[in-house]
Amino acid sequence: MRTIQAKDIIEAVASMCIKANTELPDDVRAKFEQAMAEEDSPSAKEVLRQLLENADLAAETKLPLCQDTGLAVFFVEIGEDVVVEGGNLKEIINEGVRRGYGDGFLRKSSCDPFTRANTGDNTPAIIHFDIVPGDRLKISYMAKGGGAENMSRVTMLAPAQGWEGIKKYVINRVAEAGPNPCPPTIIGIGIGGTFDHAARISKKALLRRLDDTHPDPQIAAMEKELEEDINQLGIGPMGLGGKTTVLGVKMAVEPCHLASLPLAVNVQCHSQRHEEVEL
Ligand code: SF4
Repeated sequence: MRTIQAKDIIEAVASMCIKANTELPDDVRAKFEQAMAEEDSPSAKEVLRQLLENADLAAETKLPLCQDTGLAVFFVEIGEDVVVEGGNLKEIINEGVRRGYGDGFLRKSSCDPFTRANTGDNTPAIIHFDIVPGDRLKISYMAKGGGAENMSRVTMLAPAQGWEGIKKYVINRVAEAGPNPCPPTIIGIGIGGTFDHAARISKKALLRRLDDTHPDPQIAAMEKELEEDINQLGIGPMGLGGKTTVLGVKMAVEPCHLASLPLAVNVQCHSQRHEEVEL
């Protein structure tokens, strides 16, 4: 068994929250640059230029990339041979969020759904746990802003609707979302499992690098097809028109009930803030 101390996890989580909210991932930056070179529309080019400038300023000043620093979402893989010393892992991660959002002066957005009273420290975090073989603890963090999350949907298609039905639903979702989720967006798609599981895997798919290729060539081709079709919508950066409505489409596919075809579309804005640590 391997022991990991609570204080090391708290420090790692706090610093992930700050870094992710102030440093744009290199794959997202590279996509902005590529899109700026490919766009013909002056307004689309200008929006992308401003997004790159915003990323430079955030890195330089350590101010957040966006004022909405999101709910703190975590995907945690805990090895079967790991012992956490000094507290309960859920509470430890929440303490890391409390410190990160406090020390980094990040906006606290978590509130009671009815009274709208702010919880004050951006907890509770949304934490998904997986138990895996080994003696490592892998924590992935994502800041999920309200504007993009509000545009996400889960639906249960009829199995006969198949790939054409999935494509139609996803394209309509992005079209209806329009400028609301601050495009260019990244679309995480969960297909299969159950109603709740599809939503979970659609969000986890957003953690993939924009420049990766799905290991299954058939799914990789579907991702490319959807990305091209969505970009034909012409919504463009910030909805001002252009070729770049999405920066990428990432799909996760798992078996489902023979009577169902669960589909989740998780919309992520251009401010794709995430970090990962392995302890
Ligand atoms: S959708 Fe994203 S970029 Fe737009 S305000 Fe929300 S967090 Fe910020």
